[in-house]
Amino acid sequence: MTGKTTGQVFNIQRYSIHDGAGIRTLVFLKGCPLRCLWCCNPESQKPGPEIGLIASHCAGVEACGGPCLAACPASALGVNAEGKAVIDRQRCDNCGRCAGACPKGALKLVGREMKVEEVMAEVEKDRAFYRRSGGGMTVGGGEPLAQPEFAAGLLEAAQNAYLHTALETCGHAPWGHFEAVLRHVDLLQFDLKHIDPLEHRHLTGQSNELILSNLERVLSVKVPRDVIVRFPVVPGYTDTGDIREMARYMARLGFVQMELIPYHRLGVSKYAQYGMVYSLAECDPPSQGMMDRLKEVVENMGLVEMSGKI
Ligand code: SF4
Ligand code: SF4
Repeated sequence: MTGKTTGQVFNIQRYSIHDGAGIRTLVFLKGCPLRCLWCCNPESQKPGPEIGLIASHCAGVEACGGPCLAACPASALGVNAEGKAVIDRQRCDNCGRCAGACPKGALKLVGREMKVEEVMAEVEKDRAFYRRSGGGMTVGGGEPLAQPEFAAGLLEAAQNAYLHTALETCGHAPWGHFEAVLRHVDLLQFDLKHIDPLEHRHLTGQSNELILSNLERVLSVKVPRDVIVRFPVVPGYTDTGDIREMARYMARLGFVQMELIPYHRLGVSKYAQYGMVYSLAECDPPSQGMMDRLKEVVENMGLVEMSGKI
């Protein structure tokens, strides 16, 4: 094996039918260099484990006796006006002891060190489904190329087990990280958040220069049918003109497949759990009519729009 044998994983999701061909197991790695305003997995962004607190599950310190407070070695837990636990994030070092003490499941540590073999044991459980559906394993995040050796180790192990492999990336990684991983990837799903560097920085915290430079090199190592470039559709933030320009650029580079990803609000409640603020509070998901119009824009550039096709 060429890859690293352990890494930080924040979720393994089985039976996914919306992320690549067939029935798939999604392996989410922790850590991401971008901070997309619409991120639906805010708990994936930081590289190490993180404690989350679901306030609605907390019974209150009087009712349960507050074992979480007693378990915390950093005195990072307090009590709010409603008698419920609150975390002082300045003091908390994400050790996770409080999660083990809470009888209500209100505290949850996300992110744990796993071996390639442990992840593969989970992935192998659904081998029969992959065979019948043409599915396999998808490695995403976070940003999997933030842990390039571990990502390479996972994808190589899956290939050696004759499973179809897919990689979801935001593209913000040194080209050497792509080179380490891509030979073990059957399908590359490459996200481009915005074509304009300034706008990209405003929406994600980083310029897109490195991402565009990587995109321009992808087809030197992959054939177009093995790559899908994915654009988010976020009303008021990525408009028709932006999508048209991105599609034109993709067509010029020789890509043939694009996927439009509609904005959704499924991750909004997680921001408060991890002490973060959601800044797109006023944004609504795109209508079906808008998605249909944008699909036409993409197809008019000679590209195949893939949503619902794989
Ligand atoms: S994760 Fe550790 S430091 Fe943070 S609140 Fe829980 S017990 Fe305290
Ligand atoms: S977080 Fe859990 S242990 Fe702490 S007060 Fe709430 S219910 Fe009790």
